[in-house]
Amino acid sequence: MSELTKLKISEARDALRKGDVTAVELTEACLSAIDGAGALNAFVHHTPEIARAQAAAADQRIKAGDAPSLCGIPLGIKDLFCTKGVPSQAASNILGGFKPEYESTVSSQLFDAGAVMLGKLNMDEFAMGSSNETSAYGNAVNPWRRGNDDTALTPGGSSGGSSAAVAADLCLGATGTDTGGSIRQPAAFTGITGIKPTYGRCSRWGIVAFASSLDQAGPMTKDVRDAAIMLQAMCGHDPKDSTSADLAVPDFEAMLTGDIRGKKIGIPKEYHMDGMPAEIDALWAEGRKMLQDAGAEIHDISLPHTKYALPTYYVIAPAEASSNLARYDGVRYGHRAKLAHGDGITEMYEKTRAEGFGEEVKRRIMIGTYVLSAGFYDAYYNKARKVRTLIKKDFEDAFAAGIDAILTPATPSAAFGLGEMQDADPVKMYLNDVFTVTVNLAGLPGIAVPTGLDKQGLPLGLQLIGRPWEEGDLLNTAYALEQAAGFVSKPAKWW
Ligand code: GLN
Repeated sequence: MSELTKLKISEARDALRKGDVTAVELTEACLSAIDGAGALNAFVHHTPEIARAQAAAADQRIKAGDAPSLCGIPLGIKDLFCTKGVPSQAASNILGGFKPEYESTVSSQLFDAGAVMLGKLNMDEFAMGSSNETSAYGNAVNPWRRGNDDTALTPGGSSGGSSAAVAADLCLGATGTDTGGSIRQPAAFTGITGIKPTYGRCSRWGIVAFASSLDQAGPMTKDVRDAAIMLQAMCGHDPKDSTSADLAVPDFEAMLTGDIRGKKIGIPKEYHMDGMPAEIDALWAEGRKMLQDAGAEIHDISLPHTKYALPTYYVIAPAEASSNLARYDGVRYGHRAKLAHGDGITEMYEKTRAEGFGEEVKRRIMIGTYVLSAGFYDAYYNKARKVRTLIKKDFEDAFAAGIDAILTPATPSAAFGLGEMQDADPVKMYLNDVFTVTVNLAGLPGIAVPTGLDKQGLPLGLQLIGRPWEEGDLLNTAYALEQAAGFVSKPAKWW
């Protein structure tokens, strides 16, 4: 049975349609894999009853010859997505006990396409973090280990439960969200594929907001084809999210031809960072060669404002977060602090927020309210907005000059040890996103593809950045890179 969970979405889809396996069998295999993987702490709320009911319904649809793309495919859903009647806590104590009355647009689209929900996945609290260590549930663990020791490693963040679950074959695919890199960095740390689509491709309705001008949902899967299949079901216009684009969604899977001849690939010189491990540089050079061998034209380009991206992100994201998180006041959702005799409403707010939010979330709220305060608004927030426009313009100039996609490393290192950054300056953790935040600031699609192993046997990924709304083309370039890299390694099972 356990072999079933190793199937890719595309393989399972074909097997289900042929009648080689049923959705119920596939779902049971995933549920038992999840039961056996408690050590990974990837699933934090289990929904076996929902999974079994959805699987049985999927089998009926398949029998009736009415099987949509994800019919009977077992998925994990990041805890940031509101799922009706199921705890949706954004890995925060402040949302303890919160069970939404509604379903997020993205998860309901997945269910309409026949997907089966196995449960909710661990993440950093409110999606703030790069290691899953800010989670109120405790961190998820990377199924990969260094070849020479058994140090527990981070699965990345914030979508660390999603990456761990997919890499460990607990589910066939998972949803993630990406505000500054939270799909791509955990995908790279666990040897899987993750795409953040163009801002506005997926509805944000029903996804707990972190930084609304940057947040996007996307799939985390075992390969590029699966990403295309799952993304297709996730995107589309939603009248309930005014920033979701009213654009047709092309057939992404049909665009995977692997033919990238004549495509112009940009290699931005600013992504060469001082102190970057030689292995990452070597991987990047290999990726360049792979795309060239596949017939693409390689161009060295410049994105001059890259160095301002991280500081810009760490003004804009906390500013928006401080505003979004003002709604958690002990009145409307989840946790409310126990009050002492004589406490009024102010004490209720203060005590609830002091108890409910973790350290990193409090840090972001404080930074956010500071940069938005009357005296500093122009110096920080307005300045950051201006710089963001320049960062976006760098990409627009590159695309206007004919560049189709940009190749960069996905992360500046392989997965690091859990606890390793505990006493470090928080900025060291923020540096994880140095290659990914630019993409969110510019609203572009970006994909991380596993392309190699480091000398300790850990996966490393490359990132491709595409033109807005051209996810199909981006997926095809990623597909060509995937074919050339031939990454097939899997973590050795220890859990
Ligand atoms: N790691 C980044 C942060 O902490 C990005 C998080 C995300 O994309 N949700 O803000």
